[in-house]
Amino acid sequence: VMGHLLAGRPRTGTQVSSGPDPRPNVKRLLPYRTPRPEVKTRLDANESPIVPPGIGKRIIEQVSQLELNRYPSRARLSELAGAIGAMHGLSESEVVLGNGSNEVLLAIHLAYGGPGRRAVYFEPTYTVYSAVSMLAGTKPVALGRLDDFSIPEVAIEEAGRIGASIVHLCSPNNPTGNEDPEGFAAMVAAALPNTVVVVDEAYAPFGKDSGITELLAGENVVVVRTFSKAAGLAGLRIGYGLAAGRLAETLKKSFLPYNLDAVSIEAASICVEEASAIREVEEVLSKERDRIFASIEGHPSLIAYPSSANFVLFGPQGAGRAQADDDSSSEARSLNDSAKKLWEGLLESSVLVRDCTAWPGLTGCLRVSAGFPDQTDHFIEALGEAVARIVT
Ligand code: PMP
Repeated sequence: VMGHLLAGRPRTGTQVSSGPDPRPNVKRLLPYRTPRPEVKTRLDANESPIVPPGIGKRIIEQVSQLELNRYPSRARLSELAGAIGAMHGLSESEVVLGNGSNEVLLAIHLAYGGPGRRAVYFEPTYTVYSAVSMLAGTKPVALGRLDDFSIPEVAIEEAGRIGASIVHLCSPNNPTGNEDPEGFAAMVAAALPNTVVVVDEAYAPFGKDSGITELLAGENVVVVRTFSKAAGLAGLRIGYGLAAGRLAETLKKSFLPYNLDAVSIEAASICVEEASAIREVEEVLSKERDRIFASIEGHPSLIAYPSSANFVLFGPQGAGRAQADDDSSSEARSLNDSAKKLWEGLLESSVLVRDCTAWPGLTGCLRVSAGFPDQTDHFIEALGEAVARIVT
């Protein structure tokens, strides 16, 4: 019988087979890969330079008690959701936990996007919004930002006109660093009552406006947060969405069972208890971000964009301006050339930053993440040398 089953259909010789055919959306996706050479100072991925003091040790102790032969405990998961909710003045039922906030973004698309539906985002922004759209089959619609990277009101009107099922906001925005004005997300949610408005606050702990709650009243808002940045646990993949009522219930159904592993549940629970240690790291990183910004501004040949996150977007003067965005123009080519020389120059001094020149709307742009003071010192020194090399 096996032999018969394995024999398959006879080949007719008329069809050229290249194996199973993936969905067109998936075929078009590029793998998420960024160069990560070994360097002394790694400032390319908006990670925290450390697991906050005390937390790492507690995680290891706690993990050693776990029964890893068992599926993750639902009771511990509920307790974690309750603790996160309490941190934001919300209830356990309003917290949706994900394997990194990326998984929350995907779940939103599985639940509210998909074939025949559209998702709007405002470029330049976090590239995963287009990736989750493609994966879920949602039609991605990229609208532009203004020169200061703010979102024009006409773009919100456009999202309404095309009947977007999902609108992605990101505040502070990655990789530009700017925050949406106070009340902006609430305004969008009110203007688009039948749209899920996703407010990605991965970097909000570094910002001026700590966001959240009043928004959830709208019942069409999901605020997305992560333990990967300020809490220093990018290696463990823990994120969450905050949403009210039916939206939260629907999202919870859109994950596979046991999406959060037992180690991550314990680690996140410890982080919530150690909020003040995390707060201290946030303060250090925000200060270092401001030092980085000032040091770039000190070079007349460079531009730095003001940031409320733990990173700074920068490049040669003119980088990131809309008029330089026609990639084939000679201005764009020369901006990208100079930016790449800067990137290489920094790497020669063993400092790694992110090359954003290929991202839509980011001609000539690089992004540097904030680290500890000695890493800022290294960056400042390396930047000085790289600039001098380009100028001479
Ligand atoms: N949102 C934004 C804006 C991000 O920059 C990132 C991390 N690069 C994430 C979400 C995802 O974070 P994680 O999946 O690690 O929670």
